[in-house]
Amino acid sequence: MPKSMADYKWEVGTVFLDNNHFKDAIRAYAIHAGRNMKFLKNDSKRVRVGCLGAQNKCQWSAYCSYVRSRKIWQLRKLLDVHSCSREFKINIIKAKWLSETLDQTLIENPKLKINDVRELPFIIRRLVYYHCLLEFISKQIQTLLPLSLRRLVSTLSEV
Ligand SMILES: [Zn+2]
Repeated sequence: MPKSMADYKWEVGTVFLDNNHFKDAIRAYAIHAGRNMKFLKNDSKRVRVGCLGAQNKCQWSAYCSYVRSRKIWQLRKLLDVHSCSREFKINIIKAKWLSETLDQTLIENPKLKINDVRELPFIIRRLVYYHCLLEFISKQIQTLLPLSLRRLVSTLSEV
């Protein structure tokens, strides 16, 4: 996963470790792109995602499915063009999802002792979303502030 979801380029053929890995990437992308996404199909073999923008008429869609022969998940179909405009409100469900998954990470790792290396990608993924959300919120706040305060914020964030 790239450092910033702004640079994320969806490509047919991209491999994911499992369906959660794909869904997490979608969620992080949705937050960063300021778009509301919905899992239209979500079972043990396939996940299909659509964009809820433009009153559900946005054409953006992605389809990821399990490849049994390789025991991986792969992005099979993609229409990576939004016919909707950016949604500037933070979706409550996504914010709720983030706080729940972060809580879950803390429950699963009470002192964040990482004994099992397999836990690492999970934690790193959580940190990436958290970073995305913070970045998103700070951008939103900055657009709401008067210019004088905006300068102060950017000065502070450079410290
Ligand atoms: Zn869209």
